Amino acid sequence: MTYNKSIAAFAEAQKSIPGGVNSPVRSFKSVGGQPLFISKASGSKVTDIDGNEFIDYVGSWGPMILGHTHPDVVAAIQKTAAFGASFGAPTLLETEMAELIKEMVPSIESVRMVNSGTEATMSALRLARGYTGRDLVIKFEGCYHGHNDSFLIEAGSGALTFGIPNTPGVTKGTAKDTLTAKFNDLPSVIQLFEKNKDQIAAVIIEPVTGNMGVITPEKEFIEGIRKLCDDNKTVLIFDEVMTGFRLSKGGAQTILGVTPDLTTLGKIIGGGLPVGAYGGKLEIMNELAPKGPVYQAGTLSGNPLAMSAGLTTLKLLNETENFYSDLDAKAALLEEGLQNNLKELNFKGLINRIGSMFTLFFTEEESVNSFADVCKCDTNLFGQYFKMSLDSGIYLAPSQFEAGFVSIAHSEKDIENTVKASYMALKQLKNK
Ligand SMILES: *Cc1c(COP(=O)(O)O)cnc(C)c1O
Repeated sequence: MTYNKSIAAFAEAQKSIPGGVNSPVRSFKSVGGQPLFISKASGSKVTDIDGNEFIDYVGSWGPMILGHTHPDVVAAIQKTAAFGASFGAPTLLETEMAELIKEMVPSIESVRMVNSGTEATMSALRLARGYTGRDLVIKFEGCYHGHNDSFLIEAGSGALTFGIPNTPGVTKGTAKDTLTAKFNDLPSVIQLFEKNKDQIAAVIIEPVTGNMGVITPEKEFIEGIRKLCDDNKTVLIFDEVMTGFRLSKGGAQTILGVTPDLTTLGKIIGGGLPVGAYGGKLEIMNELAPKGPVYQAGTLSGNPLAMSAGLTTLKLLNETENFYSDLDAKAALLEEGLQNNLKELNFKGLINRIGSMFTLFFTEEESVNSFADVCKCDTNLFGQYFKMSLDSGIYLAPSQFEAGFVSIAHSEKDIENTVKASYMALKQLKNK
């Protein structure tokens, strides 16, 4: 494959866009490469501007659970566009969307639409603070909640010291209100609660992680967090921007059997258009303006085009029989094939998968259950595997620390071809 047009396009883009991209992960920086410029996509495939076609496991980083350009979604957007793109006034689509979310995610009694996952988590945290009258938030190492100042914080040198900004531009004042615990390590959370009695407004967590690669929580860990929040009158926020409508109709919370107070949503809920949402207990949501005192607003929130793409997507997920079991079967097939490849070619690595989310970790560890485990992975090897996969027609997320997504549009043939291509990629790596 040749990527000449993408290489030229990237050079051109860098003259006018910082780093040539509008979101850093797109740059392929962590695999030491150059991004591909995409011209179109359909079903399970994306095509770059050089005309190369790839089986896509990025799915726009999660939203495209139906595959690209699903005809119903395209038609819905076109139909709505003809009536007007935005009014800044209520529409029936918004109520329909809210009612469907409530039906699919039982813990949500009331829901507010926003325009991105970042906006959802930012607003949910403000609401939790307004509701509790407290300042501190606990988050977990390796979890990602968008690019709000409050979440771009890492743990200080000791787990009990104040947080420190992990990007320039975040103030020390903001950083001191964010505490960081360890995923799958309940004592690290208990410790923070004990040291900060009656000060913790919220715990926010990816109930199943995708942003450090796929990790599922141990039962005692996630149930223990629920209990700690109950005992301390702290708001538990499940950030289901990635897992919502992905792992089941009701997201990760339905699978885990743990009910958060607030849930943040994004990605799939917009069907490929920019949407986020947050919702949960009525008592908390009623604190939001105009009903309550906590302010949050948006010129384009509940945008008709975005609502119609999202609604069409969610309705298909809700109404298609066996949707999630069919999706799971496809992903299981992929997992099995990739696992066999690793074994046959004697690679040290493992696959974490839950439903249609998976990560192939190159690691000598027996399991990957924590951020510390993730950090032991061979990112250099992943970078090479990534490039060879690309050359074999497989488009993976350009980082070891990401989830891959299978869509309902992936055929058995796609999976078969992926497993074959992955075998060739690994074999080439072996021979290097
Ligand atoms: C993607 C993601 C976000 C951020 O959403 P944006 O739409 O990119 O702002 C927040 N939380 C989680 C868990 C995500 O996966």
